[in-house]
Amino acid sequence: MTYRGRFAPSPTGPLHAGSLVSALASFLDARAHRGSWIVRIEDVDTPRTVPGAADEILATLAHFGMHSDAPPLWQSARGDAYQAAFERLQATGLVYPCGCTRREIADSLVQAHARHATLAYPGTCRHGLNGRPARAWRLRVPDGDAARLSFTDRWQGPQTQDLATEVGDFALKRADGLWAYQLAVVVDDADAGITHVVRGADLLDSTARQIYLQHCLGEPTPAYLHVPVVSNDAGEKLSKQTGAAPLDRHAPLDALAQAARHLGLDVSADSLDSLDTFYSTATAEWAKRFIGQ
Ligand code: GLU
Repeated sequence: MTYRGRFAPSPTGPLHAGSLVSALASFLDARAHRGSWIVRIEDVDTPRTVPGAADEILATLAHFGMHSDAPPLWQSARGDAYQAAFERLQATGLVYPCGCTRREIADSLVQAHARHATLAYPGTCRHGLNGRPARAWRLRVPDGDAARLSFTDRWQGPQTQDLATEVGDFALKRADGLWAYQLAVVVDDADAGITHVVRGADLLDSTARQIYLQHCLGEPTPAYLHVPVVSNDAGEKLSKQTGAAPLDRHAPLDALAQAARHLGLDVSADSLDSLDTFYSTATAEWAKRFIGQ
């Protein structure tokens, strides 16, 4: 097996202590497997993209000693690949147009909540648009037992999600015309030959959808490892919205040591002399913990 891993930041702001943990974990896993590691800029959601943030993230990674083994890939340049995958999915007969507004979906979820029913998209447009214009495009998920998808996460252990009751038919193309994150990520991971996905546990909930999409597209499923997210004092996931401070580019070792400790790695003060000693200690620690070497 040729290990290929990736770090896939959304350029919605500078790197912070939380995104550094995902970057570091994916980088160490690639190094511990003697594999390659690439950076992918997830700027498919253009309204959330902050101008200049991607370059800032790449510059910070470089200061921290994490260099992509191939030129970074930008989702904004991948529209043709997403369109081609969308057409392959359409050919399976599992894709349908959806005319529901956000409001209608929110209302049906409120009603479902009141009935203690499932909170998934109720499949309103499965059998036609009823004269309404198409807004989004959805992928049909299986019903019944076939909807239960299981996988084993290298950190979080065995996981099962029922796609029918917990998610419902999900969007491939959004009402605003943008490609959905789930489609973009699966197409990009497949085209880049990604064998191992290492990322934050906030994405654990998306993984079953991504595995289902891989099955529909006939693509292999990578190994998954979801690291615990970093929270602020109020218990919220660190993000630009919750006021995470940007990393200080000029003090990489302090931030790296903190990220490594969050990952449960034993990095002592003498491994913090230089980036080289830090990475060799942290890689060996990671290998002991996750690869059994
Ligand atoms: N772009 C996503 C984020 O920054 C990560 C996607 C992934 O790793 O699959 O949260």
